[in-house]
Amino acid sequence: MTYVAADNRYEVTKTRRVGNSGLILPEVSLGLWHNFGSVDDFSNQKAILHRAFDLGVFHFDLANNYGPIAGSAEVNFGQHLRDGLSKYRDELIISTKAGYDMWPGPFGEWGSRKYLTASLDQSLKRMGLDYVDIFYSHRFDPSTPLEETMGALAKAVHDGKALYVGISSYSPADTARAKEILDGLGVPLTIHQPRYSMFDRNAENGLLTELERSNVGAIVFSPLAQGLLTDRYFKGVPSGSRAAKEVFLHKNQVSENYLENALALNEIAKSRGQSLAQLALRWVLRHKIVSSALIGASSVAQLEANLQAVQAPALTSAELASIEPFAVNGLG
Ligand code: NDP
Repeated sequence: MTYVAADNRYEVTKTRRVGNSGLILPEVSLGLWHNFGSVDDFSNQKAILHRAFDLGVFHFDLANNYGPIAGSAEVNFGQHLRDGLSKYRDELIISTKAGYDMWPGPFGEWGSRKYLTASLDQSLKRMGLDYVDIFYSHRFDPSTPLEETMGALAKAVHDGKALYVGISSYSPADTARAKEILDGLGVPLTIHQPRYSMFDRNAENGLLTELERSNVGAIVFSPLAQGLLTDRYFKGVPSGSRAAKEVFLHKNQVSENYLENALALNEIAKSRGQSLAQLALRWVLRHKIVSSALIGASSVAQLEANLQAVQAPALTSAELASIEPFAVNGLG
């Protein structure tokens, strides 16, 4: 059956402006890093994407290397677009990135003009798109002049292949330089994508302040610490979970120390009538400069549960203070 989106999709979501740009994102966005590759169930992917859009999640985040196999998340997403979502293309914010290893030789990764330009062309082809809404430099390249990497992002905009540009996981100082270079090229740095959660607070060491200072919006990835900030691991490591796969999350991260802090946070969540995941999302969204929390989900049920965070009231200063001892940097 042809997909038709829910009429009330913009009534059940909340949105935020990204910095001082015209770009607006849902408070919670969906990433396709895991669960959307060639090894993953295609109908489950479709169900998650459709339910997300029905619930007002109009931003989908990809990268050239998402899979596995690398590139297959973009191929699958292209098929999901053709199968029904593409009629909403003008409502969708679709992003991709280039920076990590994609093909052999010196121009298959990092930040050269040649790699970024070729990679974006490949991503557009895989997804069957004329343009993406956001194109990111996925990681800072210490060997290529930043002027060249930012020049490649600006070229993508000038060529009509991207509407906005962003950077991911850049340091505060490199972020400030990137912004200055892009300003000089007449293409604003619109968005930064750092990792940020109650268990990874490194963005608090200058990055969020720099983004506030320069009014560049943030979309924060892994706000649930890949599942550690949910009830997924309260009774051990279930088969099929990300930690069980031992690739990006490891069983030894589900430690005694982790559990103590996660269970304490869960009690605070319960006192608000929330799940730990919902609390974790409200916590990253307490910063005005954070435009969106970028989650992953392996099922419709996870997605639905997490999106309820949007309806919850903001955290009070007393609640924030009670969270502080258990929001331990380094656990995620
Ligand atoms: P999260 O921290 O939201 O982790 C998502 C995982 O947590 C899910 O796949 C699921 O794992 C588990 N989970 C989510 N909700 C629940 C729930 N309610 N109950 C139980 N378990 C739950 O984010 P991700 O790490 O997936 O990252 C999100 C996105 O951020 C990526 O898809 C990508 O777009 C982006 N990203 C960007 C990076 C960059 O370098 N710029 C790097 C990494 C991510 P399970 O499989 O166990 O069910």
